[in-house]
Amino acid sequence: MSANSVNIHASMNPSELDAADALGAYRRQFVIPEGVIYLDGNSLGPASYAALAALETAAKEEWAQGMIRSWNSAGWFNLPVSVGDKIAPIVGAEMGQVVACDTITVNLYKLLHAALALNPGRRKIVAEASSFPTDLYVAQGVTATLPDVTLALAEDGKAELTSLIDAETAVVLVNHVDYRTGALRNMQALTQQAQAAGALVIWDLSHSAGALDVALDACGVDFAVGCTYKYLNAGPGAPAFVYAAKRHHAHIKQPLTGWWGHARPFAFETGYDRADGVRAFLTGTQPVLSFRALSGALDIWEDVDLSQVRRKSLQLTQYFIERVKTECAAHDLVCITPEAPEQRGSQVSFQFEHAYEAIQALIDRGVIGDFRAPNVMRFGFTPLYLGFTDVAHAVAVLKEVLDTQAWKDPKYSIRTTVT
Ligand SMILES: *Cc1c(COP(=O)(O)O)cnc(C)c1O
Repeated sequence: MSANSVNIHASMNPSELDAADALGAYRRQFVIPEGVIYLDGNSLGPASYAALAALETAAKEEWAQGMIRSWNSAGWFNLPVSVGDKIAPIVGAEMGQVVACDTITVNLYKLLHAALALNPGRRKIVAEASSFPTDLYVAQGVTATLPDVTLALAEDGKAELTSLIDAETAVVLVNHVDYRTGALRNMQALTQQAQAAGALVIWDLSHSAGALDVALDACGVDFAVGCTYKYLNAGPGAPAFVYAAKRHHAHIKQPLTGWWGHARPFAFETGYDRADGVRAFLTGTQPVLSFRALSGALDIWEDVDLSQVRRKSLQLTQYFIERVKTECAAHDLVCITPEAPEQRGSQVSFQFEHAYEAIQALIDRGVIGDFRAPNVMRFGFTPLYLGFTDVAHAVAVLKEVLDTQAWKDPKYSIRTTVT
């Protein structure tokens, strides 16, 4: 998509843009507290009425009344696979290749090992130094358990990721959208480049699943992990998911072998025998209540057109960038998000010397974004429950906070545990 096709300018009237919005009706399905403009759905999506209803049914009926019978009668045991099949179309995957389970971090541990086992002659993992840190910590954990494996990091301004991919590279671990800058990688091009060099690729979809039209099958991706508590709105601590291309299923070898990944879990055999397909990525008992919230949250996506989501997301981010440029020109804000639409995910980040304090002042005024160290103000834009009037209002509040230096109030410099 080119910049022109986004076709949004700072001077456009936000109410008119909202009136023409094909996705405007979805907002009613979410709980957005009065007075809040929520620009942090890239960190924790809001509750939807569908997720809350599913959670209540799971607690009050399936657990309280059904008790242990619900493992069968309510389909609890099969949730990782049934929910995985609901996620599949959102990330451009045919059924049977996605399983929901555990956390992103834990799943990356399994996937890195699985990829290394598939490429036994090669011992190098390539990743980005700018990656969300847990991805690197877990890669370091893999090298600690496999001492012959090394981790090569592409550092901003030094080495491009692709220049590190060589005949030693077993697997490339890459973020689809950078959590700090919002930069979007070209999935197809990088996947082809890595595979041409004989490497496998693991994509981290934390900031793209639910935010744009991901096309895992079409891009020939090997493996991916994704998050459901960000753009998929499934609630705090909701299970992550794993994608494994069908062509790899017969050869999956992951280290966290547990009874949920056994071919016959209720035979209680002494030896491990891997289950077929993506079930092989399961380890132990899964959080059923979180799964039910996730399943409810996913119902909303059944009729969502992801190309419309992508289009509106680019319009919202463009509108925000242009209005900030116009209205906050007097202040030292540096946009670190790519302005070319095809290189941008669904968030906008500005560097500002007093980013932490400014974000606290914004939150105090109902405009919820977040801060990322050392000096980044981060704003996520989610087409299903945000409109152009919200964006215009958020920019007006940002302007007020900067113009009046409201951020200087000492109460805004108190550091909280979670930022
Ligand atoms: C949010 C996020 C995670 C979080 O990992 P958890 O295991 O769910 O805590 C990991 N990687 C990236 C890129 C993220 O954005």
